[in-house]
Amino acid sequence: MSRPSLTERISLTKKAREEKQRARRRRVVSKRDGMRYEVDGESLLCFCSNDYLGLAQHFTVSSAFQDAAARLGTGSGASHLVCGHFSEHDALEREVAEWLGYPSALLFSSGYQANLAVAQAFLGEGDVSIQDRLNHASLIDAARLAGASLRRYPHVDAEGALRQLRGNPEGAAMVVTDGVFSMEGDVAPVRALALIARVQHATFVVDDAHGVGILGTDGRGTVAAAGLGLNEVPLQVVTLGKALGGEGALVLGDQAHIEHLKQNARPYIYTTASAPASAAASRVALQLARRESWRRERVFANLARLRQGLLGAGFELPGSDSAIQSIPCGSDEIALAMSAALEAQGIWVSAIRPPTVPENSARLRVTLSALHSDADIDSLIAALRWSRDAVGTGYRAE
Ligand SMILES: *Cc1c(COP(=O)(O)O)cnc(C)c1O
Repeated sequence: MSRPSLTERISLTKKAREEKQRARRRRVVSKRDGMRYEVDGESLLCFCSNDYLGLAQHFTVSSAFQDAAARLGTGSGASHLVCGHFSEHDALEREVAEWLGYPSALLFSSGYQANLAVAQAFLGEGDVSIQDRLNHASLIDAARLAGASLRRYPHVDAEGALRQLRGNPEGAAMVVTDGVFSMEGDVAPVRALALIARVQHATFVVDDAHGVGILGTDGRGTVAAAGLGLNEVPLQVVTLGKALGGEGALVLGDQAHIEHLKQNARPYIYTTASAPASAAASRVALQLARRESWRRERVFANLARLRQGLLGAGFELPGSDSAIQSIPCGSDEIALAMSAALEAQGIWVSAIRPPTVPENSARLRVTLSALHSDADIDSLIAALRWSRDAVGTGYRAE
């Protein structure tokens, strides 16, 4: 009998990774003051955090976290269905459901888990998950976990989704899309997809991790901004780890769908509930996100300033309707060299490479926050111009 050796597998994978210069490295943050980060001893201005509204370190939000931790402890002690479901979790579910106009919501410890849960609880073998080619990895993994077949359509191509639905007439179907695409910053054609899903008797699911808090009235996200709701989008996933500055995610739907998830979703049932303090913090963050529209306005003013500066300097930029601006680099080498050159000037922008994005589409992914000032944006523009010239004249990452 000859089993494959894991040691050999590890070294083959490592070799392939190193040949392609795809090894990734974690950076250690030891201090943070808004978008000013202390990273491995250096002070960097951060343009890669998803804390778009600047709520992660907000005084009122962190006070709520501290108070709840003092009252209820640092951990929930059990899963939601045993004894880990606290009043803070329950209130957060009701408040988010009310905000987005859905009858019911279920809280998860992360968006990744929420997406796994939706697919696993509703789909199985013989069913089909129809997805945008650039959907988040958790949605792809979810279809696999469910045992459903995964069919992808070209990016933001609603006609493509329709073709996939027509070509797969058997079994239950879900049409699944990011609301705002995490690496592109563009918005899904949710109205067209909703219509197509309805005509084809498929369930439409929107994962609005990057839209909620940012788009639409009160920051209610991509679905609300398109004038849609429960009727057109029976299941919506929103996360708390981005614009809301916390952690966790909610799935929104009608009572029956949410109850089905609660009873059947293994990624819900077999995991410890998030800390009630975390839910308490998110409740306060939600109030601020709703009320303080200047935060959203500031993000979009920053986006406009950045785009104007870069387009004026001859950068080619894809459109963005969100807090995410991608700057195409083409090769992995250029993306890495640009990122290193920016860091040398005190600016932190991460290079995003395959397999996170398709081959030959390495880029810098810039994220904007309400905490960035005009001067911060101007520094970023100047540093990008300098880096482009430096990389062009042979600057390379070490
Ligand atoms: C970040 C993200 C997730 C995962 O959410 P976490 O709470 O970080 O696990 C899911 N979907 C999309 C589109 C995301 O950007």
